[in-house]
Amino acid sequence: MEWTKWLREIPDFPQPGILFRDVLPIMAHNDAWQEVLDGLEQRIKPLAPDAIMAPEARGFLIAAPLADRLKIGLVPVRKPGKLPAPILSETYSLEYGENQLEVERDSNLAGKRVVIVDDVLATGGTVAATSRLASRLSATVVGFAFLIELASLGGRSRLDANALVTSLLTL
Ligand code: AMP
Repeated sequence: MEWTKWLREIPDFPQPGILFRDVLPIMAHNDAWQEVLDGLEQRIKPLAPDAIMAPEARGFLIAAPLADRLKIGLVPVRKPGKLPAPILSETYSLEYGENQLEVERDSNLAGKRVVIVDDVLATGGTVAATSRLASRLSATVVGFAFLIELASLGGRSRLDANALVTSLLTL
């Protein structure tokens, strides 16, 4: 089984000029999805994380099974206005636009080792903002893990040099 055969590429989504890497077909094929989760688990486990943070929404779908496999906590990072409790907020820039990310202040991350996961590393703005939220919650970001890294966009260079940055597929 080679999970990459289920990666779907959609030109000009969500706007002209963007080649969207759609990971949902991978999730729809359990053999491929288990292969992805095995790969991410192997890379994350040596970091001995206490928790996973992930940005909405595809990040959640990756983080939840990984947190369960590793038996560690999961802290969702959401788009504005979704979280009911007091929040911290960070602005970030996307390959296509700008937005904010929010996390609950009471996320039980102080002093914890955190790995941040998402489907695609593009410019790095999303996970860099997630990392800033982790720091403001007094956590240490020990790693970033992705299915896909779009190397030409240079997102890796925007991430903490002390943390492991790993991706299953570099395009
Ligand atoms: P960035 O903040 O630029 O690294 O963008 C990463 C976030 O935007 C991830 O949550 C991705 O899901 C999404 N994203 C950005 N560019 C793409 C792309 N070309 N294909 C699929 N998702 C993308």
